[in-house]
Amino acid sequence: MFEHIQPYAGDPIFALVDAFHADARPQKVNLSIGIYFDEQGRLPVLPSVQQAEARILAAGGAKPYLPMEGDAACRAEVAKLLLGGGHPAITEGRVATIQTVGSSGGLKVGADFLKTWLPEAGVWVSDPTWDNHRSMFEGSGFRVETYPYYDAATGGVRFDAMLDTLRGLPARSIVLLHACCHNPTGVDLSPAQWDALIPVLRERQLLPYLDLAYQGFGDGIDEDAYAVRALAAAGLTYFVANSFSKSMSVYGERCGALSAVCATKAEADLVLGQLRFTVRRIYSSPGIHAAKIVAHVLGDADLRALWQAELAAMRERIAAMRVALHARLTTLAPGRDFGYFLSQRGMFSYTGLSAAQVDQLREQHAVYLIRSGRICVAGLNTGNVDRTAEAMAAVLRG
Ligand code: PMP
Repeated sequence: MFEHIQPYAGDPIFALVDAFHADARPQKVNLSIGIYFDEQGRLPVLPSVQQAEARILAAGGAKPYLPMEGDAACRAEVAKLLLGGGHPAITEGRVATIQTVGSSGGLKVGADFLKTWLPEAGVWVSDPTWDNHRSMFEGSGFRVETYPYYDAATGGVRFDAMLDTLRGLPARSIVLLHACCHNPTGVDLSPAQWDALIPVLRERQLLPYLDLAYQGFGDGIDEDAYAVRALAAAGLTYFVANSFSKSMSVYGERCGALSAVCATKAEADLVLGQLRFTVRRIYSSPGIHAAKIVAHVLGDADLRALWQAELAAMRERIAAMRVALHARLTTLAPGRDFGYFLSQRGMFSYTGLSAAQVDQLREQHAVYLIRSGRICVAGLNTGNVDRTAEAMAAVLRG
């Protein structure tokens, strides 16, 4: 029956994490997976989430199925977080939000929905992008192509080339855009670049699909929603998949959402109906505990304020590690420009290290990063940043 099945090579990032855990060297450093670790190298449980969970437990109650679209309070809070409370798109009923199984669940439900309703469309992702984007959309039957994005020469965005490519796409093409904290490069569009991109999206009648997995890790919760809000202000129809995995440190709870911002309430209602059907066909309904965490943390003024402070502290710790790595490397390898560590945003930085140099870092120095040269800056702390810089400098010296 199953003899013909091809072996799955495994996910390279998860495989690297396994190799890291198996490594007996005590000074090992894990900069591989996109997870926030605290100063002690631990995965934090945020007090805001802990307090929300205590309240959920105290309230007790049964555990019924949620509706296909998820919990109403959670969905309403998500829409407000994305667009800002009282936004006209919300009050006019033009936002169709579903609670999903992580933002991966949201991205995938959106992909299946779009394959049904825009079957001829192609999907365009940034070069490079999170590898799973391609897998997910190809898995839904799409042809996936890339638009120019990262400029290895400058460490910035190939913005003119990106616009040129997008200007040449057929109408109704789907353009996947990282709303902030680009994974893997850490290189984001500036507000001015978003403002220049929006007319192209509108004129070419493209469908923007935003991935907002790191809201709050760039410059702040509202600042990182710039793209979401600018697209709404411009009156575009678009999708946005957002995640709480990192921002609430609830990775395994699978808290995420998918929202479609539409031209009219009638359209949003149609989209919501078909999103519900898409969910029904895949996993029927999302988890109730995930919904309650998000609804409590966002919906209670005190917990919300606490969470915002905790998120700010995570963001600031990452920024401090960027400064420390930059300073140490600049001393150890003078003449090289490490300014990209300071200009890049969020958890990730593209180091420009080759796959061979990455292998050397792992084998000789027990510093783990993925072979594209991406590091997860959130894996650094005051106890390992100097050693990491020394290892990187040694590898760069050749
Ligand atoms: N998008 C991007 C760019 C990501 O990096 C991730 C997680 N690594 C996700 C989506 C998915 O996150 P989750 O399913 O945990 O919400």
